[in-house]
Amino acid sequence: MINREWHLLSRPVGVPKPEDFALVEAETREPGAGEVLVRNAYLSVDPYMRGRMSDAKSYVAPFELGKVMQGGAVGEVLKSNAEGIAPGDHVLHFGGWREYATVDAKQAVKVDPAAAPLSAYLGVLGMTGLTAYAGLLRTASFKEGDSVFVSGAAGAVGSQVGQIARLKGASRVIGSAGSDEKVALLVDEYGFDAAFNYRKEPVSRQLRAAAPDGVDVYFDNVGGDHLEAAIGSLNQGGRIAVCGMISVYNNTEATPGPRNLARLIQTRGRIEGFLVGDHYDLQPQFVAEVGAWIRSGELKYRETVVEGIENNLEAFLGVLRGDNTGKMIVKL
Ligand code: NDP
Repeated sequence: MINREWHLLSRPVGVPKPEDFALVEAETREPGAGEVLVRNAYLSVDPYMRGRMSDAKSYVAPFELGKVMQGGAVGEVLKSNAEGIAPGDHVLHFGGWREYATVDAKQAVKVDPAAAPLSAYLGVLGMTGLTAYAGLLRTASFKEGDSVFVSGAAGAVGSQVGQIARLKGASRVIGSAGSDEKVALLVDEYGFDAAFNYRKEPVSRQLRAAAPDGVDVYFDNVGGDHLEAAIGSLNQGGRIAVCGMISVYNNTEATPGPRNLARLIQTRGRIEGFLVGDHYDLQPQFVAEVGAWIRSGELKYRETVVEGIENNLEAFLGVLRGDNTGKMIVKL
């Protein structure tokens, strides 16, 4: 069976270019002992993949040049040589960026297409959802009555952070996003108290207006001017969870940090990075709580769905540009 799969050809400098990648045809490998062959239905494209395209030392190994790129995917099992997984089952795995994947069954998790749409296991009930949940509740130690600011607020992680904060009794939820349409969505559909378009005016000025009483929690998806603005508006005992810094992912030189870090002294503020991979113990609690909010309609989510493996790269580049509202998914 012929498989189409994406390879990284060269390590991008700055914004990745199409020449850095190739969609190639390869023979699908038969599953060996303990392996399953999956026909992928949905692939995930995520900002962290930009980091894997570089060879700088990081928490996750770089993509290998000339080999299939990996990422989250869900699909149907066609063949199985593994106990507990049968043809016709659906699994979540990390062998994405290709149509068919032969993967170690130990790295595949069964998912139920009757319980939620398959794509949800890549987003709202998957990795990005858990990132929002763990980062807000554990890393930022959110508590009822906190005022919460989240950047990248119309994206997969950010839209869930704001809504979880609202549902758990935040005194005020503020979000920033890159277009007026996204800002309207935050307030009208997701129930944020205030939102602003960071492209229009300086973030610090807009944040001060949107959060006149300051912020207790800042959930950072963006870094740069957003982080500096949040430190500037941080209340006594404020907490900053550093989830991502997408504004610098394509930078070719080290970026100077926030100029106002000293404010953390007078506010007794705390700033802490986290990785979702360290918080999978929260998965059952997260799925139970967020799943119930989705079923009751209290938590809403969007997906931006791009069709076709040939558009996988464009979908990924679109995430870096902000083409997506909610989780960016590729449907095969
Ligand atoms: P999103 O769905 O939020 O997509 C990324 C969004 O970032 C775009 O839609 C765009 O929205 C925004 N963006 C792009 N460039 C800029 C910029 N220069 N300034 C401000 N906003 C920008 O992606 P995810 O929800 O998957 O990820 C959000 C963040 O969380 C990322 O930083 C990611 O790396 C991080 N992350 C971290 C994890 C962890 O374990 N720590 C796990 C998962 C994600 P807009 O139109 O608003 O600009």
